[in-house]
Amino acid sequence: MKHHEDMEKAMIYHAQNLAEWGYEDIQNLVRENNILREEIRVARESAEITASLVVKQFEETERILRRFQMANALRTAVLDSAAQMAIIATDRHGKIIVFNKGAENLLGYDPEEVLEKETPVLFHLESELRKHGRKIGVARDRSQRGIDILFEYARRGFYEQEEWTYVRKDGSTFPVSMSVNALHGPEGSLEGILCIASDITEKKRAEKALRESERNYRILINNIPNIVFKWYPDGGIDFYDDKIEKLTGYSLDEFLSRKLKWTDLIVDEDRHEFKEKFLKALKSNGTYIRQYRIRKKNGDVAWVEAGSQIIYDENGRIDFVTGAFLDITDRKRAEQALHESEEKYRSLFDSGPNPVFVLDMKNLTILDANRSAEETYGYTREELLGKSFLDLGEFEDIEKGLQWSESQGSPEACFVTQRARHRKKDGTPVYIRMNACPIKYQGDGAIILAATDITESIEKDAQLFQASKMTTLGEMSAGIAHELNQPLNAIKVGGEYLRFVLEKGGEIPMEDFLAAVDRINKQVDRASNIINRLREFGRKSDFRKRRVSFNRVIRLVMGIVGEQFKLQNIVFRVDLEESLPPVTADANRLEQVMFNLLTNARDAIEQGRGEDRRDDEGFIEIRSFVEGDHVAVTVSDNGSGIPDETLGRIFEPFFTTKEVGKGMGLGLSIVYGIIQDYGGHIHIHTREGTGTTFKITLPRADQENREETP
Ligand code: ADP
Repeated sequence: MKHHEDMEKAMIYHAQNLAEWGYEDIQNLVRENNILREEIRVARESAEITASLVVKQFEETERILRRFQMANALRTAVLDSAAQMAIIATDRHGKIIVFNKGAENLLGYDPEEVLEKETPVLFHLESELRKHGRKIGVARDRSQRGIDILFEYARRGFYEQEEWTYVRKDGSTFPVSMSVNALHGPEGSLEGILCIASDITEKKRAEKALRESERNYRILINNIPNIVFKWYPDGGIDFYDDKIEKLTGYSLDEFLSRKLKWTDLIVDEDRHEFKEKFLKALKSNGTYIRQYRIRKKNGDVAWVEAGSQIIYDENGRIDFVTGAFLDITDRKRAEQALHESEEKYRSLFDSGPNPVFVLDMKNLTILDANRSAEETYGYTREELLGKSFLDLGEFEDIEKGLQWSESQGSPEACFVTQRARHRKKDGTPVYIRMNACPIKYQGDGAIILAATDITESIEKDAQLFQASKMTTLGEMSAGIAHELNQPLNAIKVGGEYLRFVLEKGGEIPMEDFLAAVDRINKQVDRASNIINRLREFGRKSDFRKRRVSFNRVIRLVMGIVGEQFKLQNIVFRVDLEESLPPVTADANRLEQVMFNLLTNARDAIEQGRGEDRRDDEGFIEIRSFVEGDHVAVTVSDNGSGIPDETLGRIFEPFFTTKEVGKGMGLGLSIVYGIIQDYGGHIHIHTREGTGTTFKITLPRADQENREETP
């Protein structure tokens, strides 16, 4: 521009001087003018060029500036967007020049607080700096406050991330993974460092959790009885602990070194199934459980159970099979033993000679019955199953017993019924002894009931009993004859009197005649009474229980033996409680009890006499009375008494001290059996040379009733 002004001034100067000049002057002027014009043109052109250059320059500057701004925004955005990554840069003096959002978040400082301050003392542990310093061979220089160590890191180009500890503003620490980078100037000089660190607290926690879970897994592997394995298609097998040695006798190494294949151990008989199961698993979801036998190193056989899972690779080929073995040898043995014992019991149950039933605890339905039960009762098994056991006959005692034991809290107690009357399918009675125990049957409460058919032995008992009664009656015949003779004599006397009167013409008063006839009738009654008593005694007992008056029993038996005993100079002393309550029994059997006790007493008296007291009067005292909830009857004699050495044996069947032909040794054993049957007891009090007392107690029937109907 300046150039342009300068040129115009020069042209005006030239025009003012034109009038004074000649042609030459003008020529010169024109020439000069042309030169000047040329100069002006050049000057204009150059000015134009210059202007466009300036504009260009200006535009360029502006573009650079925009780019720079953009880069700066990007840089801030990058720095700030790394919210969980601390980016800290320093200048070459260690003063902080960059402190991004992530650093703010992690360390808790505002940028204003730290910018221009020196790192690393702010964020680092001195001890850790020293440790890292030692590692790279830099002794920490106190004046440099540790920055030298970081600079040394940067200088040596250790860009790998390492684990450091950062200290927050509040003093708390956390682990970071940090890299230290060098910031170089244009000439390659070290202008600062850039530290990039990320919080690895979570990672560390996860690592710790992983470590722990790995440790737990190992503990688990070591402690579970299962042996975890990984089996490869080539037959090799890996185990994770040495429990395998305990199972097989082969060491872990023998398997790991691939000297041994697992399949080598499997016993021949089980190989086929072993393979089959695997093939089946291949076709399904790849899981399978196998039980098979292996041969141990020492030749023993062990049972294993293996649960396995086939794992496929991405191409669908078998990668490996994993799972766990369990040594089930003991279980198998127990199963085998159980099986055998079950078989044994089953065969006992099926082929046992006695009927056995399994009953439902709740309603006594027959759940199972054996062959003997079929034979004894005449029903088929099918007919028995589902039937109520009560349909077969009495069960009360057992039922009560079981209820009682349940109420007492000992439901496992067993109960025995001595004798129950049951009926076969065709109606014939059978006598059964039952033993019932509660059991668990297919998970439910049940009763196992073993029955014994005692019909035959009862018949034998009865025959024996009858025989013994008949013997006694035989023995009694003299007394009975004597007793019968009395009324017969009286009748004869009466008859003769009547005949005499009639012969004499019948001149007697009517009343006398009638009185004589009455006397005769009375004696006939008396005689038939005696015969009835004998008949009653002689009849067979049945085993049904009724309410019986013990006093009546005593009187009947006394009536039978009384005369006989009188002949033997033995008298009765009787003291019976008139209001004696009844007992539940069979009268005929109680008569047998009384009969045996009385005849034994008589024999003892006779024996006593035989020894020293030859002519003493024998006496037998009979008493009845109530004792609590029992009826008691005592029979005492003043006979020989029982010596200690025989006292313990007198209830044994066939034990007798009497001479051959006199005693069978059955009397007291029969007494014992009968009293036992009715839930009673026998006590003996005896003194040698003085006499013996037998005391019998039986439950009162009235008390029983009261119990039944509360
Ligand atoms: P038996 O009378 O046939 O011998 P028992 O079984 O009735 O058989 O009696 C067994 C034994 O008990 C008798 O042989 C006798 O020695 C003894 N005995 C029984 N009762 C008495 C009694 N009242 N006094 C003495 N001894 C008795």
